[in-house]
Amino acid sequence: MQGPNMQNTSASGGKQTILVVEDEMDIQELICYHLRMEGFQVERASAGDEALRIIQTNEPNLVVLDLMLPGISGLEVLKNLRFVMNLKSLPVIIASARTEESDIITGLELGADDYLPKPFSPKVLTAKVKALLRRVQGDREAPTNGDIAQKNVITPAGLTMDPLRHTCSFKGEEINFTATEFALLYLMVSESGRVFTRNQLISTVKGSDYPVTERSIDVQIASLRRKLGVAGEAVKTVWGIGYKYQEQES
Ligand code: CA
Repeated sequence: MQGPNMQNTSASGGKQTILVVEDEMDIQELICYHLRMEGFQVERASAGDEALRIIQTNEPNLVVLDLMLPGISGLEVLKNLRFVMNLKSLPVIIASARTEESDIITGLELGADDYLPKPFSPKVLTAKVKALLRRVQGDREAPTNGDIAQKNVITPAGLTMDPLRHTCSFKGEEINFTATEFALLYLMVSESGRVFTRNQLISTVKGSDYPVTERSIDVQIASLRRKLGVAGEAVKTVWGIGYKYQEQES
């Protein structure tokens, strides 16, 4: 069955392919149905080894990955595709029960791009799929010299960060951050929408001006939020997982 909506196409004009890895058949069916309705080509796998085979042969544009799978787990699939198949930039969304929170954290640290706690609405999933594909596309189109630390960022809401001059302003008003606060905020803002675990944030600021623990990350975030004022609302706590920067989409 072909979806009526043809806008989800790749740069080369073909439909974008989403691989859905899910062993519960009714959930798999539901996800696939909604993705097809949005105009995506859909591949499906109900086990980890099958997923890896399809990734190798069909080169999907994005993977929706359940963690609890028979045989090879979702985390093993993720590890394998990132570090054995070396697919560092293949977008992956983890779909997992809230009770597997530590697995979700591990998954994010293994390089998953986003996660969705089960049970979820298919509409939320397709929105996340589209947002992530847009983000990846944006990254590819943005001219970089391979050094993300050189890039100025300007957000739609008006937050501007210049990592070379180490300056930040919101709607023209300058905000003074410590080196650690600046590094944390810059990381999150330059990958807006991406969830960072506390560990990922810690490794960003290691060697900086502050002894770094999970608790101190929370303290730093609280402080930079305060300095940001209204703009600080975009720094979101992702309950039990970490933090992300996301401005209201108008
Ligand atoms: Ca499962």
